Amino acid sequence: MHDEVKSAVLNPYHMAVEQFEAAAQVLNLSEDMREVLRQPKRELTVNFPVRLDNGRIKTYTGYRVQHNVNRGPAKGGIRYGPDVTLDEVRALAMWMTWKCAVVGIPFGGAKGGVICDPKQMSSAELERLTRRYTSEISIIIGPHSDIPAPDVNTNSQVMAWIMDTYSMHEGFSIPAVVTGKPLSIGGSEGRNDATATGVLFVTRRAARRLGMPMRGARVSIQGYGNAGSVAARLFHNEGCKVVAVSDTRGGIYNESGLDPAAVLRHKQERGSVIDFPKAQRVGVQDVLEVPCDILVPAATEGVLTATNADRVQARIVAEAANGPTTPQADKILFDKGTIVIPDILANAGGVTVSYFEWVQDLQSFFWGVEEITQKLEMIMNRAFATVAEKADESHCDMRLAANMLAISRVAEATQIRGIYP
Ligand code: NAD
Repeated sequence: MHDEVKSAVLNPYHMAVEQFEAAAQVLNLSEDMREVLRQPKRELTVNFPVRLDNGRIKTYTGYRVQHNVNRGPAKGGIRYGPDVTLDEVRALAMWMTWKCAVVGIPFGGAKGGVICDPKQMSSAELERLTRRYTSEISIIIGPHSDIPAPDVNTNSQVMAWIMDTYSMHEGFSIPAVVTGKPLSIGGSEGRNDATATGVLFVTRRAARRLGMPMRGARVSIQGYGNAGSVAARLFHNEGCKVVAVSDTRGGIYNESGLDPAAVLRHKQERGSVIDFPKAQRVGVQDVLEVPCDILVPAATEGVLTATNADRVQARIVAEAANGPTTPQADKILFDKGTIVIPDILANAGGVTVSYFEWVQDLQSFFWGVEEITQKLEMIMNRAFATVAEKADESHCDMRLAANMLAISRVAEATQIRGIYP
């Protein structure tokens, strides 16, 4: 059902452009500037062979898209998955540009992806795929030009292979070419939890606006990977009650609350959150509609649509995932008074600590976790306050406000640099 919705209705790039046009309209952005910002600066498609464990060769297709680099080098994750498309990568690259601008860190936006089914591949096959893909895109990535990071179905091990491959080409170690690496090779303290930590910081602020205590608040989370499972642990530690979680195979619900650590152990042992004892089985999409106060979509794009948005019971939707809410659903949620903390703000903790990792790598001088968390909190709180103020001033939802802020910052940088030649 979900895949039908994704392919039939949703083209993430169309959605990203629609959001861009809405903000550009309110900002009164010139048609010339829209022309520059509406499409990615650079798109690379690579088809490359990988030897499988059975000795056969399979050709894979991968992408790397850089949307805009006027505020700094391009930055953005790499995802692996059977559904990856060029339009999805374009959308994610554009959202990265706005995300970096909204939290005020000096990067432009990029994204990468490879069409593959990592669940059907061995670790050795994934390593060969990663190394060859890195080689293919090494003509545009680099510590000063474009710095990848983990995203769906990629992790710190994949980042280590990317760093190693790039370094082998250059002849010496270049840790700053990628972020989200293991600590032992120049990763940063706090990076693993960063996305979910940022989600928690901004959710606290939204709850305060509603006069809603975090202690005892019911939380439902779609997706139990890096963003979702860490969010479950952090919200639980905050005193919230995590009532529902899900992954690709289904969801679980318990109105008295789940133990996130036990659910994670279950998923690691059994490959899914489903069949967790003492929980009711629900569908993948049901976790979006269960009774809760805070909803954290942490899986994929286009899951909150015109079809289900009116059934969302949460008062706060904190978008850990990129692009989970369609423009039509945004309108329905806004009219209902639901606070949607948009992806480019809510999940910006990930890229913010990636920025810290990059700075530490370039200086070969590493910070402690307290310093990182403190700096992250300051940046997230400042961004939330600025976006909320803009939304109040303009009587609009936080997505439009965040896009207006971000787009005006990128437009200013583009204007001041001028058009070459
Ligand atoms: P991940 O691969 O670690 O986890 C993804 C999770 O979502 C898995 O549990 C998977 O089973 C589930 N999932 C995937 N498709 C689903 C579907 N159709 N329905 C229900 N569940 C589904 O990936 P991640 O890094 O946690 O990323 C999740 C989202 O968060 C993505 O949108 C990503 O772009 C966004 N994000 C991640 C980071 C980061 O630092 N990892 C930063 C910013 C944003």
